[in-house]
Amino acid sequence: MENIELKRFWEKVKEELIGSLPESVHPWIYSLEVSGYDKGVLTVVTGQSIAKTWLSKNHSEQINGILSVITNIPDSRMNIIYDEASAVKLKKEVEKLQKKEAEMQQKELAMENLSYMQSSSNLNLKYKFENFVVGKSNKFAHDASLAVAKNPAEKYNPLFIYGSAGLGKTHLMQAIGHYILFNNSKLKVKYTKTDDYINDYISYSRKSNNTVENMSKFYKKYNNIDIILIDDIQVIESKIKSMERLQHTFDTLYNKGKQIVITSDRLPKEIPNLTKALCSRFEMGLMVELTPPELETRVGIMEKLAADSGIEYEKSALTYIAKHFTDNVRELEGAFTKVSAYAEISGEKLTLDLVKSVLKCDESKKSVDYVSITDVTAHYFGINVADIKGTARGQKVSEARQMAIYLCRELLGNSFNDIAEFFNKKYTTIMYAHDKVKKEIATNSNYLNAVREIKQALKVL
Ligand code: ADP
Ligand code: MG
Repeated sequence: MENIELKRFWEKVKEELIGSLPESVHPWIYSLEVSGYDKGVLTVVTGQSIAKTWLSKNHSEQINGILSVITNIPDSRMNIIYDEASAVKLKKEVEKLQKKEAEMQQKELAMENLSYMQSSSNLNLKYKFENFVVGKSNKFAHDASLAVAKNPAEKYNPLFIYGSAGLGKTHLMQAIGHYILFNNSKLKVKYTKTDDYINDYISYSRKSNNTVENMSKFYKKYNNIDIILIDDIQVIESKIKSMERLQHTFDTLYNKGKQIVITSDRLPKEIPNLTKALCSRFEMGLMVELTPPELETRVGIMEKLAADSGIEYEKSALTYIAKHFTDNVRELEGAFTKVSAYAEISGEKLTLDLVKSVLKCDESKKSVDYVSITDVTAHYFGINVADIKGTARGQKVSEARQMAIYLCRELLGNSFNDIAEFFNKKYTTIMYAHDKVKKEIATNSNYLNAVREIKQALKVL
């Protein structure tokens, strides 16, 4: 018989045997391999000696009968041979299969673990490196974050990411978490807002009545972590007890060789009343700044959003949005969401005209500008306009300058960088001034009145 003919013949025999013999012997039939056929004698080989023994002893009559019918030769028979080499081959195959199964099981376990870790780590799935558009303004921060994600606790510890609101601090920080979970799901990642950390600490302290047992639950929660991501650390300002606790968490994790990532809207030394001990800890790793993205990056972010949403658009429409929202990616995204919702509802493409009409970038707002704000503010405080932009440090001049800075930000919505350029001051000075006036307004009626009167004079009230 030709090889191919032999194979076909064997398949037919096998099919008949499977159809007739009890299921318990099927695995042994599958273990048989055809070797030859000659004048009614079919020779098969098995690597399992039990298959030979069992089939010959208990089923030979039935097997030979089936064979005789197929070959049409009376007294046909099947000759089963046990073969050592086949046995070895079989053993290897079984081992290979078992290994594969074990690997699959481990993978499944890892995936389960990953989704568990993702849910318990508090991470938002949107905030991954893949979704972060890199440009000049954020490249250093991005690269440092990626380096930390690839080698936690080896490179930069702690990593301190700072920059004003809406520039991607939370996004980058969580991207580190996702990357680590995805590539090494054995590591425990915890993301926590500083507010939540503080509240947790307070509520455990209350519950505990200072019993060691209850507080130890708190320690466990924050000390058994491989990567801790602490967002918006600036809110810890002046909360001395929480700072002491945080210092403890920091030291415990740091000494165990764990990775710490912190974000803040300002530098450590600009956080009011931050203890020296914490300040120096935050500064001892790497500090990276996020600055407002330049136009090209903003357009890139718009294009990514548009591509993700699948909306049809004119490029000029995206560029228009990107040009009008210069220093906060969250606002930029908000504008895109608004115009794309309009486009979707009205069934239109995202065109430049549509964007212009939806955003109605208020031209009247433009009648207020740096010059009018500084003029009116100087007049209100009774000082020279030149002093507002100068370096004089008298109390009145400082107050007027800070007020003008605050109003420029609030009324023009320009970036801190832009305002810094106009006032010829450092970016951080501008941020500090803005923050200070904002806080004063909340508690000091003199400030509130000043803002109201200057706005009235500018006719924006
Ligand atoms: P922050 O924590 O600095 O206030 P977020 O990380 O919350 O800012 O970012 C605000 C929004 O802008 C988020 O939706 C974030 O995904 C998005 N975003 C910020 N920077 C980028 C970027 N470079 N690429 C894509 N999206 C970004
Ligand atoms: Mg944030």
